[in-house]
Amino acid sequence: MKPRTKLQHQLVQYSSWLTPGVDKKILNYALSDCNTKLGFSTSKTYWCGVCGNSHSAKDIVKNETICPSCNSELHILETKKRKFHESYYIAFAEDMFEYQVIRYFHIDVNYRKGEHWKTNVLECIQQYHTDNDFHLISRLTHYGDTPIYGPMEVRNPGYYKQYAYNPYPSAYHPESVFLEQYSKKGCQGDFGNIRFDGLKRQLNFNCPKTETLLKAKQTQLLKVAISDSYKVSKYWNTVKICLRNNYNPIDGGIYFDYIELLEYFQKDIRNSKFVCPKDLHKAHNKLVAKKRKLDKKLAIAEQKRKMNFDQKQYEIEKGKFFGLKFKKGNLTIKVLETIQEFIEESEKHNHCVYTNKYYAKQGSLILSARVNNVLKETVEISLKEMIVTQSRGYGNKASNHHKEIVELVNENLHLIQERILSLSQTA
Ligand SMILES: [Zn+2]
Repeated sequence: MKPRTKLQHQLVQYSSWLTPGVDKKILNYALSDCNTKLGFSTSKTYWCGVCGNSHSAKDIVKNETICPSCNSELHILETKKRKFHESYYIAFAEDMFEYQVIRYFHIDVNYRKGEHWKTNVLECIQQYHTDNDFHLISRLTHYGDTPIYGPMEVRNPGYYKQYAYNPYPSAYHPESVFLEQYSKKGCQGDFGNIRFDGLKRQLNFNCPKTETLLKAKQTQLLKVAISDSYKVSKYWNTVKICLRNNYNPIDGGIYFDYIELLEYFQKDIRNSKFVCPKDLHKAHNKLVAKKRKLDKKLAIAEQKRKMNFDQKQYEIEKGKFFGLKFKKGNLTIKVLETIQEFIEESEKHNHCVYTNKYYAKQGSLILSARVNNVLKETVEISLKEMIVTQSRGYGNKASNHHKEIVELVNENLHLIQERILSLSQTA
């Protein structure tokens, strides 16, 4: 939009005073220091992403090789793709009077088999930071993605598009210049893919731990310090061991997950042997698998404990009916006596007599109807009304024996009644 206010006119003026010709410098830095040069291999050959030439795959060692055509050190991806695309931002910091300016350059790398790579650099965003906020001169975003369309203008994006104008840069150009209030606290050169606004808030609040991590260029731990300072404070003694051992975790989130797991398994989280693993992913995954196994064990133990408890309760409530069994020909109907029997009925008939806890239901009695000892239906009797409330087989449906089952129960309801009466007389 066109500048209207005094501030907006000032920003446009400042923008024209920023260091010119930075883009070439940024592109050179991106391609030499930030961009992994890629090769793309099938089983027999690979093609070099930089020069596009193809060579035999036999010289690839652990996914690395040197292209004999252009001498590029390549990282090999196994794919049949004939083209590939990468894009990211490099940030360049400048001071402009009271503003800390962060300029974002969008790097675009296109690989195509048989062709030299095509690279492009475009300045997209300028953030003018004050202590608490920042103003924008930027290109436009179409879908809330990278703002690369249209001219560099004063922008005031709505809430849902704000994040597109504040992306994570892959790196800061080493010639970046920061205001003294930031440079004296460690903002110098490249400090990795950190968003400046989160960092500046912490530095302005005087967070000595953030400062320490920034000065040590511990990008991954610094990221966590900005997003979850509580976690870094909690494990600060462990972090200090990383600093002492020059150990830079490759992923801050996974690192703290790993430390929490070490703590859970009561390992010494002040011992570099544990807290500085050579292969963080491997060490983390190993503990995750161990925890999963243990969780499973605990769940089984808990289930067992709950079943024992339920069994005792069930015996107190319905024990007076245990032993009741009605027979006619090959049909037997018996009162369920254990929770395990409720599980078996549920599993056999695929219904909810166990999951809906019928064993704990007041005023109800559950029986199992079997023909030649094969489960056929589960019967529920209302003890208040002394009637069969339901009798269901597989999938809650009636079996072929439904009629005779209900008849046999009805013929024997007086036996259940007797148990209730004898108990009340004893009491
Ligand atoms: Zn090459």
